Amino acid sequence: MIVRARTVVTMHGPPIENGAVAVSGNRIVDVGRFDDIKTRNAGNTLDLGEQVLLPGLINAHCHLDYTCLRGKIPPQKSFTKWIRAINAEKVTLAPKDYIASINEGFAEAKRFGTTTIANLTVFPELIPQIQPPVRTCWFAELIDIRAPERAVELVDSAIESLGRTRPQGAPLGLAPHALFTASKDLFRQCEEIAQQEHILLTTHLAESREEMEMFRVASGPLHEFIKSIGRPMDDCGSKTPLELFLDSIGSGGSPNRPQSIEVNRPYLSWIIAHLNELTESDFELLETSNSKFHVVHCPRSHNYFGHSPFAFDRLRSFGFNICLGTDSLASNESLSLFAEMRAFQKEFSSVSAEEIFQMVTVNPARALRYENALGQIRPGFGADLIAVPCSTSTDIFEQIFAFDGPVPWAMVNGNT
Ligand SMILES: [Zn+2]
Repeated sequence: MIVRARTVVTMHGPPIENGAVAVSGNRIVDVGRFDDIKTRNAGNTLDLGEQVLLPGLINAHCHLDYTCLRGKIPPQKSFTKWIRAINAEKVTLAPKDYIASINEGFAEAKRFGTTTIANLTVFPELIPQIQPPVRTCWFAELIDIRAPERAVELVDSAIESLGRTRPQGAPLGLAPHALFTASKDLFRQCEEIAQQEHILLTTHLAESREEMEMFRVASGPLHEFIKSIGRPMDDCGSKTPLELFLDSIGSGGSPNRPQSIEVNRPYLSWIIAHLNELTESDFELLETSNSKFHVVHCPRSHNYFGHSPFAFDRLRSFGFNICLGTDSLASNESLSLFAEMRAFQKEFSSVSAEEIFQMVTVNPARALRYENALGQIRPGFGADLIAVPCSTSTDIFEQIFAFDGPVPWAMVNGNT
């Protein structure tokens, strides 16, 4: 089929006026001006009219488990209080509630134009009961704070649950939750497995001031709370979260060298969520490191918590691949990446709209190792497309950002 629109934004070259995309099965086979596409390709034409056709959006960090907690936890004075509040909500939920919550989250994300999600779940065993309507990279979220001696067992069982449900070719992921809930052994074990298999890694790192306080000076509310659970606290009192993370991953992670990136430096497998709290020595470490990882910023969740400002300019100048995510609805109000782009733009007004749009398309595709398959409209790429209204040819990205609401048209893997 041929899909025609007023403008096609490919994220690979300039926008195409009166453009069209030819799709065969689940792949894009051609893209260009409508007149040329018509001559080169057979098939029915779907004319989307006064709309801009875009690559489907990619959410690089979320927890659909907690979609049902929208509006349940008002912003707290401290991050630790929020953890206590979410834990209190979680004990009231049964597996069927989580399944309903995940399904509701997928439907909402798709309505808002998201066609690929990196989704962390605490319950990988529930995945077989869920049929995601969008592409999903499932990450098993792992916590061994109460039983660090079971790190190996925990990873093995997560891999088994994930492996049983692995859709053809889709990458799977492991997510040791955070330095304060996952042991050094658990981080090492995840990394070892990821080096052997096609597995992605993610974690929450340096998210809150309380996390920095816990590790650097061995005090504060998070330190007290985590200590009360029984975690050994001997790694607290000197290093920053970033230093401890780099220690935990030992050799520095399995290199992931995307072929499409013309940068001669290895990317680690790690997709790091947040990275808000960094000291000057952390910045030096990041600047001089030969290996870079992927970083996910969640603008609205960040505002909800009132975290320290995200060091976008510095991290970008050091060569980190920065993506956007929604985080969960326990700290956000919707799963719209359009709203995340607007929140980001409000905070970083000097960043071009096109660059912000890369953070929900090209950049997360690279982080999820889909750099040759998703995030752009190009022949050979997956047919994940969305359309939003546009009435003029100027300021096309501003029109995209202004869009608020369900997308009028979407295609995931060739299906509408
Ligand atoms: Zn998270």
